[in-house]
Amino acid sequence: MKLQDIIAALDLDPALLEGGTLEVRSPIDGALIGRLREDTADEVDAKIGRAAEAFRAWRDVPAPRRGELVRLFGEELRANKQALGALVTLECGKSIQEGWGEVQEMIDICDFAVGLSRQLYGLTIASERAGHRMSESWHPLGVCGIISAFNFPVAVWSWNAALALVCGDPCVWKPSEKTPVTALACQALLERAMARFGGAPEGLSSVVVGGRAVGEQLVDDRRVALVSATGSTRMGREVGPRLARRFARSILELGGNNAMIVAPSADLELAVRAILFAAVGTAGQRCTSLRRLIVHESVYDRLVPRLQAAYSQIRIGDPLEQANLVGPLIDRDAFQGMMHALARAREERGRVLAGGERVLPEKGPDAYYVSPALVEMPAQTEVVRHETFAPILYVMRYRDFDEAVQVQNDVPQGLSSCIFTTDLREAERFLSAAGSDCGIANVNIGPSGAEIGGAFGGEKETGGGRESGSDSWKAYMRRQTATVNYSNALPLAQGIKFETI
Ligand code: NAD
Repeated sequence: MKLQDIIAALDLDPALLEGGTLEVRSPIDGALIGRLREDTADEVDAKIGRAAEAFRAWRDVPAPRRGELVRLFGEELRANKQALGALVTLECGKSIQEGWGEVQEMIDICDFAVGLSRQLYGLTIASERAGHRMSESWHPLGVCGIISAFNFPVAVWSWNAALALVCGDPCVWKPSEKTPVTALACQALLERAMARFGGAPEGLSSVVVGGRAVGEQLVDDRRVALVSATGSTRMGREVGPRLARRFARSILELGGNNAMIVAPSADLELAVRAILFAAVGTAGQRCTSLRRLIVHESVYDRLVPRLQAAYSQIRIGDPLEQANLVGPLIDRDAFQGMMHALARAREERGRVLAGGERVLPEKGPDAYYVSPALVEMPAQTEVVRHETFAPILYVMRYRDFDEAVQVQNDVPQGLSSCIFTTDLREAERFLSAAGSDCGIANVNIGPSGAEIGGAFGGEKETGGGRESGSDSWKAYMRRQTATVNYSNALPLAQGIKFETI
């Protein structure tokens, strides 16, 4: 699908892509997608103001009715899955299967949020005082700011927006400056759903286009009650303290450094397939990409040659063609980051077993395709402990199960982890309090490709935030504890006596 066809299929106003200063290029071939207008500080201010205004109306709309808007949005996504998925691929370079998958994830979270809109349950609590009733209710919180990364240009926004909207919160979205066109397309689809819904307040959802400064403005604005920020740990280190300074809520979804332990009893057939998808899928540009492989010494010499063979057969190329499984890196910086990491790995006595080179130069000087790298390391050195956002898989040996878990946990990040084993004891120990310290821990499944039903996020430098499924919705609401006295007395809690007459 060509850009013009996608724009036409989505019925997107072509004028949105012209006349601005933010140049957006496709990583597929470096071709210009558009020159977008960036929002000025005044425009950002006005959009936040309209969102704050919208909050006053939206919080009074019954939650199941708010869910109806999200249901309609899900319908728009279903009808436009092909085109929106292709736009995701064109703008961020992931394979078309993954582009469609990302839109499917949006549809799934809409379905989840619609059901949730009738289940924003509170509690009743036993009071210690006679004639008293205690309860806990959840109320809309306020404007939700969403800052998103380039590698999941639409799904991560929808995880936040679908929940925020049913919870009663308007949204202001600052997408990555590398992928703003998909954001404008999502906003257009949501506006179409709002038109069908009838009566959604103006400013309920908006997009602010720009770089870091626009993100900072969203972070610093007191009218924004919650900021959900997805991106690098570097970004989170700046955003977290700024939000804390004004006591705003935050959901931080930051970098990962995800590992797989391959135990002696592992089904190696399954492990190889899982490793390939997790390590080279999305060209290693998922927060949950597999970056560290910790292999028991008894299976190392059977597993690693199979991986080498599989790596030599990976189809790299234009991600819009379904046969290609690996597309380009997002840009030159990403390519240089990968080359730098490989050089450091060699300095730290690593050995490149496969890949690690720039390929397909005919795609143009601004298109950075690489062969995914498999690197054998003597130990978990400094470079291994660092998240390089590119397809590098470091392989290490282990002898003892506890040592493997310790290596898996001994990195600053704590997003996703997994073990391949058929030994029940090992599997359960991996999932126990003394096992993986990550937000996500899988058995006989790779670390990437989470379902929306679970809470998504990680510990340590990954930021501690949770979004998407389970009870993540609570982050978008404020909790109110209420005590009602329906007696004729005024007993104090803890039996305190305070008699003046
Ligand atoms: P990035 O940190 O460069 O940018 C992310 C977003 O933050 C962009 O919209 C950017 O404009 C904005 N931003 C940057 N500095 C800011 C600041 N000081 N104040 C406000 N906003 C600021 O990340 P990226 O290169 O787009 O994405 C890759 C990174 O994102 C990787 O580290 C990856 O692991 C992480 N990621 C994490 C998750 C997760 O759920 N944990 C999901 C996707 C990506």
